[in-house]
Parts: sequence; structure tokens; C-alpha cells
Amino acid sequence: MTDSYTKAVNSGFTKSLAKKLGLPRPAILRRYRAGDPLTVGPVLVLSDDASRGDADSLAKELLGWSLDVRREPTDDARWGAVLLVLTESARPTDVSGAVLAAGSVLRRLAPNGRVLVVSRAATDGDAPELAATRSGVDAFLRSLAKELRYGATANGLVLTDGAAADGTSALAALRFFLSARSAYVDGQQLRVGATPSDAADSPADLDRPLAGRVAVVTGAARGIGAAIAKTLARDGATVVCVDVPAAGEALARTTNAVGGTALQLDVTADDAGTRILEHARSRHGRLDIVVHNAGIVRDKLLANMGPAQWDAVVAVNLDAQLRINAQLLGADGGAGVEGLRIVSLASTSGIAGGKGQTNYGFSKAGVIGHTRATAPLVAALGGTANAVAPGFIETDMTAAMPFVTREVARRLPTLQQGGQPVDVAEAVAFLASPAAAGINGQVLRVCGQHLVGR
Ligand code: NAD
Repeated sequence: MTDSYTKAVNSGFTKSLAKKLGLPRPAILRRYRAGDPLTVGPVLVLSDDASRGDADSLAKELLGWSLDVRREPTDDARWGAVLLVLTESARPTDVSGAVLAAGSVLRRLAPNGRVLVVSRAATDGDAPELAATRSGVDAFLRSLAKELRYGATANGLVLTDGAAADGTSALAALRFFLSARSAYVDGQQLRVGATPSDAADSPADLDRPLAGRVAVVTGAARGIGAAIAKTLARDGATVVCVDVPAAGEALARTTNAVGGTALQLDVTADDAGTRILEHARSRHGRLDIVVHNAGIVRDKLLANMGPAQWDAVVAVNLDAQLRINAQLLGADGGAGVEGLRIVSLASTSGIAGGKGQTNYGFSKAGVIGHTRATAPLVAALGGTANAVAPGFIETDMTAAMPFVTREVARRLPTLQQGGQPVDVAEAVAFLASPAAAGINGQVLRVCGQHLVGR
């Protein structure tokens, strides 16, 4: 639910009062609904001269998605999105024309519009000019995201290892960022590699990309986990909902809502991975997706911290994920699950840290670390391992924060509001989808461009 301040500054008398007083005016964000148009208006595709070939192929793909695609900035349009293609820019001076052309239309970017920058990753062997140009895109994008208003966002696709701009995973990422599914993702760059040749192509039904897949979601009884279970089910997956026995009633509610099965299990159990695999295979015949969402906070200053806070947080948030992954990937000598998609919940606190959160920060930075290390192991079995790092999301976990801290945390991101559980769920569903096969070892932040952390 949108918080009451955001609702107030978007309606009637309080809207004009907030405007007069110069108070923050967070926008009502557009979220995904089946059947809604992909973008809120025409898409302008711009590039520098060298990147024109990639811009042409992307424009062609967008036309195939029934979008109104234009190649010249004009005054008459209310733009739904601007796609800036800089894949072949080689010198800093190359980008000027395209960047300034994009700037010239930003005043006519519609509320909830999108700016997307497609570029290539700088690598160690690059010439200094090339490295400078490719690296420059990073803070150009983050700065631009901070300038957009009315729920519009800017994000970047960074192609790695010679990945094609119109490869399956690049197009899937482009579609995710253009769509309302990425409502609370802002100022982020996602690295996209070449799609493995044996990976599934784009699904026939773009609204049900997970049809036929079996997914396990831990901590599914409530909050973000429940939203993930519902979103994966909406996208076609059969979902196994896992939570502790004490959350049995709420777990049953989520399970009924998604038409899946429930597994009452404490993820810190020694055999949690084996039990998850047994349940998925015996009840549904296969296991394709694991979402490590179960997590707890036990905030205390380190000076006051004891094992009840430190050990519990590390056990649930980090050690359980490591043990379950090891069991699923066959590290104990068993056969690893082929083609597994692992998505782990990290946090912006695992990037920037947080006062009273040495335990939580350790656990969530640990999640980012193990995701990167697990990526090549799971790739060897045809799968991927990625993490999603939420910022401030409106759940029972954040409702327990003191009022002032909570209100400040809500207004700090560029989007000036907390995210909804479904915003995190959309990112998870995207990373778990077959077309995202070329995205591995990445951390996608869903934080409204939170002030802290990169
Ligand atoms: P929540 O407290 O609302 O829900 C967490 C769920 O995990 C609960 O249903 C709980 O019963 C379950 N759980 C806890 N320990 C478990 C265990 N040992 N075994 C199985 N299930 C267990 O939390 P949330 O806000 O929905 O957060 C979900 C995830 O997102 C967590 O990993 C959290 O750290 C992360 N996250 C949340 C936010 C936020 O702002 N809410 C921000 C960043 C990251």
C-alpha cells in the first residue's frame, strides 16, 4: 500500500499545500497490470554515430513489441521512454550529441517514463579513451536518475563479454526496465552477458514466462516472500512456499493464494536443502528456481550485541543459504540440480552498512559475496545465481522501525518513498525467467535510488 503521506501529496488540498511549502512530493508509481501498455508513450531511440547499428536493431525489436518508436527528438510527443545507445562510443567526445539530444526531450518525459542507457562494460585491456568513455556512463546515469521527476526512472544495461545488444537476455532486461515491473528500480546498471546458446529463447507468452517451472520461496508466509510467491505464480510457476512451523497459518494463506504446496521448515536445519529438493521433486517432479528470501533483523550496537543477535542473524540470513546451495549444487558428492536459478535476498544495508546492523550488514554483504562465488559453479550446471538488494520496503519488518527513522528512510531515495513488496518480487521473477540466462552473479538493487551505497 502507498504510504499515507504519498497519498496525501497526490490529492486535493494537501497536494497544493505541499507544493506551496516545497515539501517532498513522491509520485504514485505505475505498477504492472496484465494488459496495460508496456510504456506510457512513444519511445525515442538515440545513439552516437558509431552505435547506430545497435540502435537500429533495438529500434526494430521495440517495433516488434508494438511500441511507437521514433528516431528523432520532436516537440510534439509526450515521451514514454528514451533509449540511449552508446555501445560503440570510443572517445568521451563521441557521446555528446546523443546525450544532449536525450536531455532536450526530458521536460517532455511522461510521468513514470523511462530512460535507458545501453553501453558496454569497461575491461582491463581497454585503451584509456575507451575505458574513460565506458566508465563515464556509470555516474552519468546515476546523476541523471537523480534529476528525473514524477516517478520517471533511469537505468542502464551494460553488455559484457561481447554480448549482442539484441541478444535474448539484453532484450529481456530492456523489456523489464521499460515496463512497470521495474517501478522502484532507479539509477541502477545491470550487467548482461551473452545468452548461453542452449538457453531458452524468449517465451511464447510474455505474460507467463515461468510457465512449467517449479519454484521454492523461503520465508513465504508474509511480506516480500509472500509477494514473491504470488508474482512467480502469476508468471506461471508452481510455487513451494517455505516458512517456519510457527508461521503455519500465514504460510497456508500464501500457499492457498498461489495454488502451490507448503513446506514447514526452518531454513537453518542441517538438511534444509535436501528436504526442499525432495519436496519439490516428489510433489511437482522438478526444481527450477530457489529464492532465498527468509531473513531476520536483530538490531543492536555492536557494543551491546551478544550471540542471540549475531549468531541468529548470520545463521538465517547467510549460513542457511550457503548450506542449501551446497546441497542443491551437489557439493556433498550428490548430483547437482541442472539449470537451477538461484535468487538471494541481499539488502542495501549489505552495501552501505547501517547503524545497529553490524550483524545484518555482515550477513547481507555475505550474500552478495557468495552470489558472485556461486555464479560460476551454478553456470557449470546451466543455471544462474543472482541477488536482489532491496532498500526500504513497506513490510512488517520496516513497520517495526521507530516513526521518525522510518519517515526519514522513506524520503531519502530519489523516488522519495518506500518500495512495495511486489517491486522486489518483480525483480526476482525477472532474474528467474528463462530469458535472463545471460545474467549471472549480479546484484540488482530495488531501492528507488537510495541515497546510501553505490
Ligand atoms: P518479514 O520479517 O516480513 O518476513 C520474513 C519471513 O521469513 C517471515 O515469514 C519469517 O517467518 C520467515 N523466516 C524467518 N526465519 C526463518 C527461518 N529460519 N526459516 C524459514 N523462514 C524464516 O521480512 P521482509 O521484510 O519480508 O524481508 C524479506 C527479505 O528481504 C529478508 O531477507 C530481508 O532481510 C530482506 N530485506 C527486506 C527489506 C525491507 O525493507 N523490508 C530491505 C532489505 C532486505
